[in-house]
Amino acid sequence: MKNIHEELERFQKEKGWEISTENAGQSRESLLLNHMLLTTEIAEIAEELRKMMNLEYELIHEGMEKEEAFRLAKQEISEDIGKEIADSIAYLCKFATFFERNIEEDMMNKLQEINNRMKPNLQKRMKEEAK
Ligand SMILES: [Mg+2]
Repeated sequence: MKNIHEELERFQKEKGWEISTENAGQSRESLLLNHMLLTTEIAEIAEELRKMMNLEYELIHEGMEKEEAFRLAKQEISEDIGKEIADSIAYLCKFATFFERNIEEDMMNKLQEINNRMKPNLQKRMKEEAK
């Protein structure tokens, strides 16, 4: 992830696509614009899922077995949803760059946080099951 972030940062700077750090006003405007663009990319992932489900439905309607229809529909959108996932990650990396975040570190910390949060629940469940 660190390599991808660095590569995207370099690419975005080269194209002049980074979130503006000119001044407070331009940064605020650029943050909002980029957030809007990020949500557009997220919506494009949903659009691919809709395409997949519509195709699955059509294939089942034509008599195909459910699992096979799902597999084919999934395969059909795979490349395009990959592009939308990449677009979304590119925007997320812009935010990470702007806020001077190390995504890898943030991700590892987040996983640890989730693990720590789940431990008390797991212990509680194990105690209840032992009763
Ligand atoms: Mg896109």
